[in-house]
Amino acid sequence: MDAYCTDGVTSEIRGINGYEDGQILASWASPEGRQNIDIGKQIFCNSAVNMKNIVAIGFDMDYTLAQYKPETFESLAYDGTVKKLVSDLGYPKELLEWSFDWTYMVRGLVLDKKRGNILKMDRHKYVKVAYHGFRLISKNEKVATYGNTFIRDAFDGPDYAHIDTLFSLAEAYLFAQLVDFKDSNPGKISEEKDYSCMYKDVRSAVDLCHRDGTLKKMVAKDPRKYINEDNLIAPMLKMLKTSGRAVFLVTNSAKPSFFHDENRANLFAVETESGKLVNTDNGTPLAQVGDPDIELPHQIPNMRCKVFQGGNVGHLHKLLHVGASSQVLYVGDHIYGDILRSKKVLGWRTMLVVPELEKEVKVLSSSRDTRKKLQLLRSERDQIEDQTHHLKWSLEHENLDAGEKEKISVKLDLLESQRARVRAAHQESQRIFHQKFHPVWGQLMKTGYQNSRFADQVERFACLYTSQVGNLGLHSPAKYYRPSEDFMPHDSDILS
Ligand code: IMP
Ligand code: MG
Repeated sequence: MDAYCTDGVTSEIRGINGYEDGQILASWASPEGRQNIDIGKQIFCNSAVNMKNIVAIGFDMDYTLAQYKPETFESLAYDGTVKKLVSDLGYPKELLEWSFDWTYMVRGLVLDKKRGNILKMDRHKYVKVAYHGFRLISKNEKVATYGNTFIRDAFDGPDYAHIDTLFSLAEAYLFAQLVDFKDSNPGKISEEKDYSCMYKDVRSAVDLCHRDGTLKKMVAKDPRKYINEDNLIAPMLKMLKTSGRAVFLVTNSAKPSFFHDENRANLFAVETESGKLVNTDNGTPLAQVGDPDIELPHQIPNMRCKVFQGGNVGHLHKLLHVGASSQVLYVGDHIYGDILRSKKVLGWRTMLVVPELEKEVKVLSSSRDTRKKLQLLRSERDQIEDQTHHLKWSLEHENLDAGEKEKISVKLDLLESQRARVRAAHQESQRIFHQKFHPVWGQLMKTGYQNSRFADQVERFACLYTSQVGNLGLHSPAKYYRPSEDFMPHDSDILS
């Protein structure tokens, strides 16, 4: 695999996915052609990708090839952040006794920094679930805060932070803890520090943990403790290489700007033994003035650098010899950094890794009866409400005698109690159903009956999505991924 990093170090890759030639067979290539892929490992398609047209496949590193164990890795980030808050930013010492529930936060949430709230919204940006710290916000309070406005908030300004990567779960949890702490311990956190300010402190402490090596040092010491071993990855990479595809790695947080061709960052070759950077001419190392160790490129025509730092996507296209950006498939875990930019700006084909999906699809497929029941309860509710409106209209606007009015009133009372019963049953079943996915936030891809904001982004920006990167190796490298038919409400009414 060629490695490419936008501003960091890439050497971990060999430790995780190292394999010997000939050791591993492509896992899809059994004579039966692997018909039965577990539902949790399937690749889902939003937009057609014909793998025959793909000449280069790129991978992101963190949370894509290197699948961190959130219970250990995110706890490390959490502990490091708390220590920095106390020692560098003057937060009370009792924070050091706090612990982190890594299962509490989920991706797709939005932090309202000013109000100290954590929100889950649907694809239309309606806030459907809201907490202040860890306190559930009532429906009335939620509507008063987010519903009664003249101009709809786009939730993308500086007052909001989006929990789009698994790296952000620890900071979101810590923010909720601090909000609770500030509310119930007046004066313990300086009055000048409002919720936004506390978020800023958490953000900069997390950032520092990533940049000062606190996290990387610990992971490098004991990778098995922090990274899941995935034995599908090595055969998958080998299969792609055997099929003639170039494979590459693009990693690190400077990625959004890397995807802009006009980014003029210099491209350096990395000497992997020493970590030394060498100037290049479009990827070909240049002799350094006064450096006797480096030969001129024309003297070593077969020399190929494999690891680079800096540069931009234009350099990468040249190195890969791709003729069009649609010939590149890029696999990553971060909607914004990996997927949105590469698809929207460049036109690369994209595959999003969503580890949460494995559980999500399993719960879904084991809940068919519940979903049918929910659908029935919903249409029963609709029918009762329609009937009620009809009768009320008659009562108020039609010329009826006293006997007819009495009959309608009796019927209305009956319908009202029926409506209350069905409504309660519907709400309770829906609550139980959502809690099967996550006790606080429910289903990742839905809020009630609507796609969640997260699902909407997946649908718009990821051509393909799947739970783990290794799943790519369960399918032929020549596969034509085709999307299922799009459905609008009028389509499903006809089909059901
Ligand atoms: P990738 O997923 O391979 O592109 O790597 C993401 C990189 O971003 C990792 O090296 C992380 O350590 C780094 N990272 C994640 N969150 C932060 C942050 O808040 N500040 C700085 N770096 C971060
Ligand atoms: Mg990543």
